[in-house]
Amino acid sequence: MGSTSATAHGLKRPLIFLGPPGAGKGTQAKELARHFGVPHLSTGDMFREHVERDTELGRRARPIMERGELVPDEIVLGMVEERISRPDCAAGFVFDGFPRTIPQAERLGAILAGRGFAAPLVLYVDVDYEKLFRRLAGRRTCKVGGEIYNIYDRPPRVPDRCDHDGGELIQRPDDREEVIRERLAAYETQTRPLVDYYRAKSLLREVDGSPDAAAVTRTLLDLVKRDS
Ligand code: AMP
Repeated sequence: MGSTSATAHGLKRPLIFLGPPGAGKGTQAKELARHFGVPHLSTGDMFREHVERDTELGRRARPIMERGELVPDEIVLGMVEERISRPDCAAGFVFDGFPRTIPQAERLGAILAGRGFAAPLVLYVDVDYEKLFRRLAGRRTCKVGGEIYNIYDRPPRVPDRCDHDGGELIQRPDDREEVIRERLAAYETQTRPLVDYYRAKSLLREVDGSPDAAAVTRTLLDLVKRDS
């Protein structure tokens, strides 16, 4: 990806990726974090790691995630606050999948201000419902490096194997059809209100997530550079 290969160092403002599941937030957030040399903070990945390690938090989150519902705000907030207090976050970070409710957004605002960070820039990536469904149902993730594929739109060269490290490609348990419906419903009722919340604060920038990933990345980079 030519335009994104050169890395910058640090972000003036933390970035937040907002949008429905399947809009490409994970792919784009990773790319921007790599570009700016800051951590990519996906609360979904953090929970999956806890589930994998079978921690107490993982045992609480697992059944909720399997139903496609949201984990309670106080659990998410405790985990995020601890994470951004680590030294690697001092030069900024990219949130992916957080905040997801108005209370999370309000609390995040206070946490960022308290730690001396600038107001976040919120990148709202939207895609129509049918495309979201196809992206989620077709998504496969490398068990080793976390690289994301899609069996319809971005298949690996060898079925079920990562192009980069040969790792096994797996389907997330919550990418099954009945759970996808639940997750999209949770987004509509609990997360979509954040669009108006951040728009009212003039922190929101809207991006069409339908084009191919490289094109979306270029648009996002332009936006962030213009705004920082
Ligand atoms: P994701 O990978 O972002 O789609 O997240 C997977 C699942 O983790 C979600 O369906 C929720 O159950 C949980 N989760 C991730 N981030 C949050 C959050 N900010 N608030 C509540 N639940 C979350």
